Amino acid sequence: MNKFTKEVMSVGEMASGAKLTVPVYAFKSEKSTAPNVYIQANMHGAEVQGNAVIFQLLELLQYCELQANITLVPYANPVACNHKNGEYTLGRFDPITGVNWNRMYHFDPSVIEPFVLQYIDASEDEIKIKFQQLLLTEIEQKLEHNLWGITTGQRIAYQLQRLAHQADIVLDLHTGPISSKHLYCPEYAKASAEYFDIEHTILIQNDFDGAMDEATFCPWWSLQKAYQASGRNFTMGQGAFKKESFTVELGSQEQIDLDVAKQDALSILSYLAYQGVVDNKQYQPQKMTRYACYLKDYKALYSPMGGMVDYLAEFGKPLAAGEPLARILRMDNYGDGEALHYVSLEQKVIPILHFASASVNQGTELYKVFCNYFEL
Ligand SMILES: [Zn+2]
Repeated sequence: MNKFTKEVMSVGEMASGAKLTVPVYAFKSEKSTAPNVYIQANMHGAEVQGNAVIFQLLELLQYCELQANITLVPYANPVACNHKNGEYTLGRFDPITGVNWNRMYHFDPSVIEPFVLQYIDASEDEIKIKFQQLLLTEIEQKLEHNLWGITTGQRIAYQLQRLAHQADIVLDLHTGPISSKHLYCPEYAKASAEYFDIEHTILIQNDFDGAMDEATFCPWWSLQKAYQASGRNFTMGQGAFKKESFTVELGSQEQIDLDVAKQDALSILSYLAYQGVVDNKQYQPQKMTRYACYLKDYKALYSPMGGMVDYLAEFGKPLAAGEPLARILRMDNYGDGEALHYVSLEQKVIPILHFASASVNQGTELYKVFCNYFEL
């Protein structure tokens, strides 16, 4: 049976002096033949299911054959996690700055060129070690040697990123509002998407926008491209560049389902078995039709009008052109106008998620859908 360690990481202080902390669980393997893994959950306050998945993973990992280190962090953002308003958890945006909590990670692309110049002839192993050190030093500088200070959200994000940079595989567990399961996957890691029991994958490119998954793989992808331009060809996803990170969207916010969490934990173990992190043959992906689309084809449909929404379209099932996604009730028009308005699209799509409330303003993001999708 594998033993795990538990530490409490301090990520900030409240006005009263109360410490903001997150628990950090870690399995250390005596072997180091496989990529190290970092998994976190609940960066957005209402997206709680990942905590249950980490619970199930901790239960199962104690009985796995571990080939690498695995670090797990539930309740990654204690401010967002406790950000309640009435019955609801808010916690998608820092209430003081309005910035999305998952857009505060750090990557400065200007470090790439000087690094490649300095290590143009270095071995692949040396590149891996030195570049990882560079990324960690960058974070260290931000956290410990910054006279001007950093925001509350940056302090939380950078502490988590320091853990993530020490791993090769990063899983950031989120949920949609009301949502089916879906996966954000870097294009070069497409083959890995087939090992998660998730029917819908969004393929993303090498664009850094401040999210955890991008903050982990974009530096390495950019490094690989810079080496390529200098005449050294490394393959992203292999050797020193064996770096993969995913945002795993586990379903709907404000919900914990421990049985579904067990399924999600098995899905993650299937991926980790494929990567050689756990040496247990029983963890295999389920057979299912997996659909994917590129990020540019993952589109939001904004409500054409205000009103009360009856969401009609079923998640995950292809919806023919012209079929209604939703109908919007306008009681103010009843008797002297149109009380019901149907919303549809002129192309076939796969609905993935919709807004969490039935009442919407004109311009509310109603649905997000896959367009131009294909089978993986
Ligand atoms: Zn989220």
